[in-house]
Amino acid sequence: MEFLSSSEHIDLNEKYGARNYAPLPVVLEKGEGVWVWDVEGRKYLDMLACYSALNHGHRHPRIIKAMIDQMNKLTLTSRAFHNDVSGRFFKRLHELTGFDKVLPMNTGAEAVETALKIARKWGYHVKGIPKYEGNIIVMDGNFHGRTITIISFSTVAQYRDGFGPFTPGFRIARYGDVDDLEEKIDDSTIAVLVEPIQGEGGVIVPPEGYLKKLREICDERNILLILDEIQTGLGRTGKIFAYEWEKMRPDMLILGKALGGGVYPVSAVLTDSEIMDVLKPGDHGSTFGGNPLACAVGITAIDVLIEEKLPDKAKENGEYLLGELKKLNIPVVKEVRGKGLMIGIELEVDARKICEKLAEHGVLTKETHERVMRLTPPLIINRNEIDWALERIEKVLKEF
Ligand SMILES: *Cc1c(COP(=O)(O)O)cnc(C)c1O
Repeated sequence: MEFLSSSEHIDLNEKYGARNYAPLPVVLEKGEGVWVWDVEGRKYLDMLACYSALNHGHRHPRIIKAMIDQMNKLTLTSRAFHNDVSGRFFKRLHELTGFDKVLPMNTGAEAVETALKIARKWGYHVKGIPKYEGNIIVMDGNFHGRTITIISFSTVAQYRDGFGPFTPGFRIARYGDVDDLEEKIDDSTIAVLVEPIQGEGGVIVPPEGYLKKLREICDERNILLILDEIQTGLGRTGKIFAYEWEKMRPDMLILGKALGGGVYPVSAVLTDSEIMDVLKPGDHGSTFGGNPLACAVGITAIDVLIEEKLPDKAKENGEYLLGELKKLNIPVVKEVRGKGLMIGIELEVDARKICEKLAEHGVLTKETHERVMRLTPPLIINRNEIDWALERIEKVLKEF
């Protein structure tokens, strides 16, 4: 292939690609661990880590090996037949979470859709809500993906504008506010869907005890509590799952992103038999969900997470990074918040400009909404690398 410069690549993307993203002007061609390189050979520290899909870093050797080994044996079968990896993957997820059963999908949004379908069917067949009068409560500022149903209950105007008519059956409650939630609940409420920390919403950490309170409310009213841990799960917040911080357990758990080890889309819905068993053969499916390659990658992603103690590292390094950021006394910084290595810096100025400037200094991250810069590096990041990033973040922030 002939060499193309960054600007030539950007031109090609803009000419032939849909404009549904506005990437920073950086064209990457190689990644290893926490580092990536652009086509001109400039090196960057990846402090975004694909919104937590790269918890293991770029091209983790064990994950790459597991993938290549599996590619040399069998990659795809469809679910018309069994394969010799999926059962092991489901068992590994069961061991990790305690949930009886797993339904594998590919992307996060698909797993969210799957959870909503399971919940609705449970609502009508088990809870006994009249068909089709059920409602599911979601939170203000939520992000669960981009399908028509999911954007139907988004509270971000742009995510919805132009995409109606919308899927009915959802209600919005204020995030972090249990009183407001209780007001929205009625006898037709099937489920509550919530993120333990809102990532895309701007790294919003709810009040302590929130999830536990949700658990109590859902128990009282026989409502399913569904946690979307696509971003918070698998070590990001300093525990394997963010719900462990509150010593509670959801009825349904949605995983994605890092379950694919940074190499392949793997998502899953986990729940116990009495809920999962509402699905009968033919009710739901996915051509690629549960394929051998995905399952081999998923198993290894979990093994690496546990054996390399990535949640503990996220906890220690996250506390350090958050502490150092809080010490910086910089006028444009309004607030620094987060848990583990899921950190948001709320600014008084446009975060995009800061991210562009940071990229010039070799640190990659991305704004969410206009004024929050997020720091979600790979969980394998070490202290020196954090200090390297901190130095540059401080310098760039001080220039504004
Ligand atoms: C990224 C994300 C999704 C959507 O995942 P996709 O793989 O992009 O479909 C859903 N929920 C949360 C919390 C996410 O962070």
